[in-house]
Amino acid sequence: MRAVHFIDGSWQEGNPAIFGPMTHATWMASVVFDGARAFEGVTPDLDLHCERTIASGLAFGLQPPIAAGEILEIAREGVSKFANDAELYIRPMLWAETGFVAPDPDSTRFCLSVFDAAMPKPTGMSVQLSSFRRPLASMAPTQAKAACLYPNSGRALREAIDNGFDNAVVLDGLGNVAELATANIWIAKDGAAHTPAPNGTFLNGITRQRVGKLLKDAGIPVYERCITWDDVMDADEAFSTGNHAKVVPITKIGDRNLQTGPIYQKARELYWNWAHGG
Ligand code: PMP
Repeated sequence: MRAVHFIDGSWQEGNPAIFGPMTHATWMASVVFDGARAFEGVTPDLDLHCERTIASGLAFGLQPPIAAGEILEIAREGVSKFANDAELYIRPMLWAETGFVAPDPDSTRFCLSVFDAAMPKPTGMSVQLSSFRRPLASMAPTQAKAACLYPNSGRALREAIDNGFDNAVVLDGLGNVAELATANIWIAKDGAAHTPAPNGTFLNGITRQRVGKLLKDAGIPVYERCITWDDVMDADEAFSTGNHAKVVPITKIGDRNLQTGPIYQKARELYWNWAHGG
């Protein structure tokens, strides 16, 4: 795997050390990041991923030493170092270098990595109900894409994998469906698409927002609402959205098998057409 990193004004390859034992991010996890994609010569919504990097940093009291537009230019430069059709992950990061518990805002540093990462095939994923839950917005800045929120996603994913599933449906603190461990969730019922309404417990994904708009524009009813586990078990179809794999069908929920259906197929097709400028 080839990886390039923009650190302190220049590009480096490999896995250069950026944190020392004394770095605030090392022991206080003051890292925010984002994840975008380049594939088939396109970089969908790269500008929004750059903007979210800044918003995540501000939510954690960091002071980004860079503007979203500059991150976008650096990301494009990084992508240009690979073949035009390469499948890549683009990861900007911000973190605090110093601070005692509270990060020193003006010690905020920036790094952007671009590396080879194959796009997963949309072959269908299995999910189980997680025994872990998402924190509420009053307990953690859940709208930020912050490293410190991911051990919770990590243990939901670990639990699912250990039980033979690919991913997990994670409920919010009130017991309603929030998202998957690593992506947003959608269900389809009677020709309409449904997805949890952002309620401050999960990441309002950039792919989720894009797919919702595309489905609506195509005349498919989209309901952002409160979704229960029973709704998921009763769905005609289910699928996920996220930067990593974009739109992927869920073909097994607990012990229930599902077919891929027309709403999923439309969502994936609309996303791909839009991403390619169609
Ligand atoms: N939820 C979580 C926990 C995620 O890690 C991701 C991936 N970033 C998403 C949702 C999907 O968000 P996006 O479409 O912005 O990638």
